[in-house]
Amino acid sequence: MEELQVYAFKYQRAESVTSAAAALSTDDAAKVLSGGMTLLPSMKHRLIAPTVLIDLARLPDLIGVREQADHWWVGSATRHQDVAAHVGLQKAMPGLAQLAGLIGDPQVRARGTLGGSLANNDPSADYPAAALALQADIVTERRSIAADDFFLGMFATALQPDEIITGVRFRTALRSAYAKFKHPASGYAMAGVFVAQYPSAGLDRGGWRVAVTGVANGVFRWQEAEQALAKGTTTPALQRDDVIDDVHAPAAYRTHLAMQMLAQACQAF
Ligand SMILES: Cc1cc2nc3c(=O)[nH]c(=O)nc-3n(C[C@H](O)[C@H](O)[C@H](O)COP(=O)(O)OP(=O)(O)OC[C@H]3O[C@@H](n4cnc5c(N)ncnc54)[C@H](O)[C@@H]3O)c2cc1C
Repeated sequence: MEELQVYAFKYQRAESVTSAAAALSTDDAAKVLSGGMTLLPSMKHRLIAPTVLIDLARLPDLIGVREQADHWWVGSATRHQDVAAHVGLQKAMPGLAQLAGLIGDPQVRARGTLGGSLANNDPSADYPAAALALQADIVTERRSIAADDFFLGMFATALQPDEIITGVRFRTALRSAYAKFKHPASGYAMAGVFVAQYPSAGLDRGGWRVAVTGVANGVFRWQEAEQALAKGTTTPALQRDDVIDDVHAPAAYRTHLAMQMLAQACQAF
């Protein structure tokens, strides 16, 4: 059996976001650790070799789910299981709570966090779809980044290497739902569609937002679906030139799954 051995590294438990940011900015090879569900396997496989891991997981300022004015705040170190189980969120933003409950398996949901998921931006991860559909602002220790500007393609984001996500503001929707076709082994989305509806006044596409994950090289808004929902017409077949075509599913099957997940999400409204 292959023996997995990480490169040597130091471990620091962060005492505050400020001290974590300072430690990160003084060492190019330092990394923040949140749930460790992606970072630790990457280290075990020697894909990365951080000199220091700065553990954010126990910072109280980064943990929790709260309703505030026109949005829901979720701290970056909040674990998926705690988002899924939040009763207020389940009532007000059912799509978001439901999405968190569909991530991976109970072990992954007990460790994995919102901030780690967004920073990693796996093209099949679930939270990026919620962030785009729910007009989220991704808040860091130095600025706020609109979700529309945050996701830059496969595993790429607008974050600077030494920037720390502190939390996310998800704008409260009138209605929201998420449907996902899981890869049977990993649980990641082979197609995941998040649908949200906002009051239409002043908004294009009648206040509808539809975001898709698992289908292409990165999360994206499905504008034709938004227009069709606004007009009450049938959504045309998804047309993109970057649909994933791999051993798990050919491109045509993934686009078919996206149509099915859109229908399922809308039925849940
Ligand atoms: C078996 C398995 C199944 C999974 N299935 C799914 C699934 O179905 N859907 C899904 O969406 N995800 C899935 N995941 C991913 C998982 O849900 C985690 O969200 C993901 O691994 C990253 O979150 P984390 O908290 O573990 O981050 P970590 O692994 O700790 O960190 C990941 C990266 O983000 C950086 N980072 C962490 N926190 C911050 C922060 N606050 N600010 C800036 N950078 C930060 C780290 O430095 C690192 O580069 C799965 C993972 C596993 C192992």
